[in-house]
Amino acid sequence: MSDRHPSSGPLVEGPHDPEHDPTASYALDRGYVQRLTERLVATTGETVEVRSPIGGQPLAHIPQSSDADVEEAFRRARRAQAEWARTTIDTRAAALLRLHDLVLDRQEEILDLICLESGKARKHAFDEPMHIALTARYYARTGHEHLDSKRVRGLIPGLTRVEVNRLPKGVVGVISPWNYPFTMALCDGLPALLAGNAVVAKPDAQAMLSALLAAELLADAGFPEDLWQVVAGPGSEIGPALVRRADYMQFTGSTATGRSVAQGCAERLIGCSLELGGKNPILVLRDADLEKAAEGSVRAAFSNAGQLCVSMERIYVADQVYDRFLERFVARTEAMTLGATLAWGNDMGSLISRQQLETVTRHVNDAVAKGARVLTGGRARPDLAPFFYEPTILEGVTPAMTCFGQETFGPVVSVYRFHDEADAIARANEGELGLNASIYSQDGRRARAIARHIRCGTVNINEGFAASFGSLEAPMGGMRQSGLGRRQGSEGVLRFTETQSVATERLMRIAPSFGMSDELYGKVMTASLRILNKLGRA
Ligand code: NAD
Repeated sequence: MSDRHPSSGPLVEGPHDPEHDPTASYALDRGYVQRLTERLVATTGETVEVRSPIGGQPLAHIPQSSDADVEEAFRRARRAQAEWARTTIDTRAAALLRLHDLVLDRQEEILDLICLESGKARKHAFDEPMHIALTARYYARTGHEHLDSKRVRGLIPGLTRVEVNRLPKGVVGVISPWNYPFTMALCDGLPALLAGNAVVAKPDAQAMLSALLAAELLADAGFPEDLWQVVAGPGSEIGPALVRRADYMQFTGSTATGRSVAQGCAERLIGCSLELGGKNPILVLRDADLEKAAEGSVRAAFSNAGQLCVSMERIYVADQVYDRFLERFVARTEAMTLGATLAWGNDMGSLISRQQLETVTRHVNDAVAKGARVLTGGRARPDLAPFFYEPTILEGVTPAMTCFGQETFGPVVSVYRFHDEADAIARANEGELGLNASIYSQDGRRARAIARHIRCGTVNINEGFAASFGSLEAPMGGMRQSGLGRRQGSEGVLRFTETQSVATERLMRIAPSFGMSDELYGKVMTASLRILNKLGRA
């Protein structure tokens, strides 16, 4: 374990807790930035400046990788993986548990960096180390359950012994987005490491520092240094450079990019899992607890300023309770504390970039121009931070408006009435995406029955997204254009393995025909198959 870390964390100027000074300026210690960026395989000599959405000040200059750097990252990762694959599951699980503790111990440093890089509220940043701790512990404690070789039934009971092995794929490429810069960079790689793989990671350009801190924490937890490589550069160049070399690809990001990653994987006949976008619906049934539904809808629509793949952008409310729900939802939204600072206490922080601000502004302006009503919000707040946008509720959104079917990925939600549940289900299933949905009802059985008709990979009942996201044993991912494969649970680790079946024939040979003529053998086998079926054997 390393003793290199200053106990003080990364900040060097500006008040640490500027509750009353939204324009406070923060800067990172240069030595700290250098220590993180030295982890990159990046020799081009070029750098890209990263600025913080809080105050807009420069944070770091990130060295950029070339195709040759990606090649070198894979060379190092392959060498490290060959050794790592020989370690036991217990050794790998122990490293995951040390990571669990380290992430909790160095939480303040992690939160400072996430907030600085993304502009999000500290309480939403907290979700990230928490999710990593949950993921590390879950996979450490269940490694044997998923990965131990398993005996299965053989061809001839007692004579054919078959075991199924789970072998690592090799080097897994991980491409991650900026919205959860720490957990998205790290969470999928943890089960990959547990299964005996190495990782080459390409985080988003706006999220490099948090991803590099994640790499440092892995090394400090005792994972071999070269097992986790990080490269940096434009997604359209460095992303395909990973796809050309990896043994398996894990991608999180937009549906459009996911499709191009899948095409690259198809060319090489390698597997991939894709965690993509959503246009996620909430159904508020007429028997819902409306306070609970309003409170949950605020969190579900505005956590991380709506820049969350599973966040809610459409709310369908039963006619009978529409006005009462809306009154509560609007009031709770207007009571939110807004601010872009490092301090605890804000309910929503900033968008990450000018591009995000432009998309959100465009979606809202388009809706308003075509007749939608803004019930609250609907404007940028440069007084709080350069890219800040208020939490916004729209009513009267129609299919002619961009935000009706397209993911906004910002703090904008549209509210609609529904007349009966069949209508609500049909509208929840509109469009091509199918990531996450939520149902509010006091009748759990009915809500679970409705859930089965919704074409989404997760459905949360009386919650927006945290119940499924935080349940590590539950697979998570999208149906339809929202993804392929699942993170979390057994599927979340088995995707990083090759299945190998080893069948041993004992005592006698299967062929040729136990000494019978071919014709007699055919008759005996036909009779045996009939008997086995009558006996109810698999
Ligand atoms: P994006 O697709 O633009 O970028 C994601 C990553 O892909 C980045 O690292 C980027 O550099 C890289 N990339 C860009 N072009 C590439 C290419 N041609 N080949 C390979 N990689 C390339 O997505 P974004 O806009 O940064 O992220 C927001 C999107 O991600 C939203 O749609 C959101 O819903 C989705 N998302 C999904 C999940 C999930 O778990 N389902 C989680 C977070 C975000």
